[in-house]
Amino acid sequence: MDPADIILLEEADSLRAAVESVFFAVLACPACGTLGLITLSQYLGTDPVICGSNRCSCRFRIDNKTRLIYLPVN
Ligand SMILES: [Zn+2]
Repeated sequence: MDPADIILLEEADSLRAAVESVFFAVLACPACGTLGLITLSQYLGTDPVICGSNRCSCRFRIDNKTRLIYLPVN
């Protein structure tokens, strides 16, 4: 996966089976490429996404399922 790529779990049976149902997709951090799981509300832009890497503090929101809006780091 490249940074900012998103794979929907419903389109990937082997991943879907391996991941808790609360998660909706796998997303590669646009800044560092670390893979993280996101929920449906994050995918729809309701909740922000925070990179899971402890060497990266990237925060962003997914807009219209396609575009990333970067949020300021507090
Ligand atoms: Zn990151």
